[in-house]
Amino acid sequence: MPLYEYRCMDCDLRFELLKRSSAADEVECVRCGSARVQRLFSRFAARSSGGDGSASLGGGCSGCSASSCASCRRP
Ligand SMILES: [Zn+2]
Repeated sequence: MPLYEYRCMDCDLRFELLKRSSAADEVECVRCGSARVQRLFSRFAARSSGGDGSASLGGGCSGCSASSCASCRRP
C-alpha cells in the first residue's frame, strides 16, 4: 500500500497514512477528526529516477581497479 501524506485544513496537522489508492480520499484527521483533509504528494511520487549512474565500467586498466593506470598496463 502506498504511503500518503495529508494536511488537515482545520487544525493544520500534517500526518501520513498507508492507504489503498481507491480509499486515498476517505480520510479523517487523526487529531481532530475533521473530514476537511487535503492530500499532499506522496514521497514516492516525488522521488525522481535517474541521477548519477555509474559509467566506470570498461575504462582504464584490467589489472587493477584504478580507472587510469600506467603502472601495471599489460602488453
Ligand atoms: Zn485536524
